[in-house]
Amino acid sequence: CGIVGYVGEQSAQDVVVEGLRRMEYRGYDSAGIALVHDGEILWDKKAGKLANLEKELVEHPLASSTTGIGHTRWATHGAPTDRNAHPHLGRHERVAVIHNGIIENFAGLREDLEADGTEMRSDTDTEVAAHLLERELETGVDLTEAMQRVCRQLEGAFTLVAVDAQDPSRVVAARRNSPLVVGLGDGENFVGSDVSAFIEHTREALELAQDQVVTITRSGVEVTGFDGSPAEGKRYHVDWDLSA
Ligand code: GLU
Repeated sequence: CGIVGYVGEQSAQDVVVEGLRRMEYRGYDSAGIALVHDGEILWDKKAGKLANLEKELVEHPLASSTTGIGHTRWATHGAPTDRNAHPHLGRHERVAVIHNGIIENFAGLREDLEADGTEMRSDTDTEVAAHLLERELETGVDLTEAMQRVCRQLEGAFTLVAVDAQDPSRVVAARRNSPLVVGLGDGENFVGSDVSAFIEHTREALELAQDQVVTITRSGVEVTGFDGSPAEGKRYHVDWDLSA
């Protein structure tokens, strides 16, 4: 339901949790986070309020990282439990993905993956995206191209945001009939399901069209279509009175 992604110089955990808190008004049933640290994905997820996740993060702190993603879930497929909360990971835990919306053709994709020996760890429609992304990465492409390839296989309405344990430099997001905006910072960049995900940090934003993939790094933003063709977002300034 709420989505935040961050790459920069600050603690990704702090930026992500704060962004999720700003989006609490959307309503949700669970929350989770994934960080890239030293070639690994560190993650935590909890059913219930964001406060449950925050408590868990205090009791079992994750190593610090400047690349991360976070999600608050409004369950459509699978009960609101810890294991169905996002992020979802690929089988070698190389990829973590968060998702808003519904992947309509997940059942067929799930069957193919299971036939191929992949063991599912949740009841969500989302998890197939994690396995498909990881499979693409294993062919040697980067996360951006993996996302383009996977989006071409998906039907439905979705915002997806992913990180690769082996590439802390980028967060990759995609949208089809589902909200996604980019926040443009100085030495840091953001993605969010709406501007409240990053409004504390920047008011410069980039609007994306549908069926686009965006890659954020510390120093840049690259937009393409699902077919990999270069595209451009539309820059705008967010005029919000935060005190209101
Ligand atoms: N369909 C996904 C799920 O049930 C995503 C729900 C959402 O938009 O939060 O896990």
